[in-house]
Amino acid sequence: MTIRARFAPSPTGYLHIGGARTALFSWLYARRHGGRFILRIEDTDLERSTAESVNAILEGMTWLGLEYDEGPFYQTERFPRYREVIQQLLDSGHAYYCYCTKEELEAEREAQMARKEKPRYSGLCRTRTEPREGVAPVVRFRNPPEGSVVVDDLVRGRVVFDNAELDDLIIQRSDGTPTYNLTVVVDDMDMAISHVIRGDDHLNNTPRQINILRALGQEPPVYAHLPMILAEDGAKLSKRTHGEAVSVIQYREKGYLPEALLNYLVRLGWSHGDQEVFTVDEMVSLFDLADVNKSASSINPGKLDWLNQQHIMRAKPEHIAHHLGYFLGKLDIDPTTGPDIVEVVKAQQERAKTLVEMAEDSAYFYRDFDAFDEKAAKKHLRPAAEEALVRLRHFLAAIEDWEPDALYEVVREVTEELDTKMGKVAQPLRVAISGKAATPSIDVTLYLVGREACLRRIDRALDYIARRKENA
Ligand code: GLU
Repeated sequence: MTIRARFAPSPTGYLHIGGARTALFSWLYARRHGGRFILRIEDTDLERSTAESVNAILEGMTWLGLEYDEGPFYQTERFPRYREVIQQLLDSGHAYYCYCTKEELEAEREAQMARKEKPRYSGLCRTRTEPREGVAPVVRFRNPPEGSVVVDDLVRGRVVFDNAELDDLIIQRSDGTPTYNLTVVVDDMDMAISHVIRGDDHLNNTPRQINILRALGQEPPVYAHLPMILAEDGAKLSKRTHGEAVSVIQYREKGYLPEALLNYLVRLGWSHGDQEVFTVDEMVSLFDLADVNKSASSINPGKLDWLNQQHIMRAKPEHIAHHLGYFLGKLDIDPTTGPDIVEVVKAQQERAKTLVEMAEDSAYFYRDFDAFDEKAAKKHLRPAAEEALVRLRHFLAAIEDWEPDALYEVVREVTEELDTKMGKVAQPLRVAISGKAATPSIDVTLYLVGREACLRRIDRALDYIARRKENA
């Protein structure tokens, strides 16, 4: 059997990390088993669905690299098909028109509550044959009154629901639109979905969906309900209380690599021994629904930072360069106007937790910095450093090969001439050309900043020292 898994988001907001994790697990399952991954946009809630949200979902999936094999299919384009299936259920007696009015249903509900019964539809219209004048009916599914529905969930194990607990749910509203449980069933059937992998907030819908599928003569797919993701404080993760941190695109903007976020997401509910860092290929070859935890997991931003650093360190520089370019662009830097961006990545790869940090720490390779870091300048651009900077400037202006080895030699020679320690020469130089006290090794930093900028910035540092002397 070919595995066919789907991701079926409702486009009522951005792609948040819970949704992205659901998408990832479905995608991994399909990829692992050589199956197909289908994207379906569940946009039947016309009031809450927006085109921006569809775009945000597609953008998030593209950025994460969760490519789909089929779709996106839009439920709003399938209304005729839903109507056809509803008619089929009506014809076979598995569904019926319900003419109960809102007021009647409300009264019924109140009476049940007063009797301390669970509120449910009494089934009055199950046997009603005559339409009622002036009432636009809904269509209800005729749920089997007895027996039980067994869900052999791949994550949750066996879950049994009593049919007596399920009332006859509405599958078509009085305005003629189909409801969620009906559209999901029709789509999972038509799209030949073999594995429904989704959040466990849908577990209670599953017996209803299975009953409708059986009424249509179908065998239900296999289900896997994923545990919830909680906020750090153990509360339910919500847009309102936990803000932007839950949107996938926000993670991109904060400088996380897509593979680091995937790694982070995969560990929200899944584990493989005590391994923490996974490449995407490793995730694909190791992922198994049987290893998904039953209990909820909490987000952990510190861990995401750590994973991001691990992925930045391990990645090919060319790959990081492609992302770094985006973040330099956001700082108004055109990476073609300075050193080779791949060389910059090689110099910075071991140092940055995020790409935002890497870009900010690399800006001085491309343009003059606004001001020296105050502390660094105070400490290293002292009158005592003047002599070293003057000599360095002299050699750097004359050196033929602007290459790290030769540049290192210059620093070493000046150190020797002044009979001092390397740090007394390299640190003032570092602050002079970068503005900061910490950069990649001095030879590589010089090399990347380039001769012209180095000389200009050393002059600026000498000016700074001269002013300092005047004010002393
Ligand atoms: N559209 C539903 C949601 O976004 C998912 C339905 C499903 O996966 O069956 O929660």
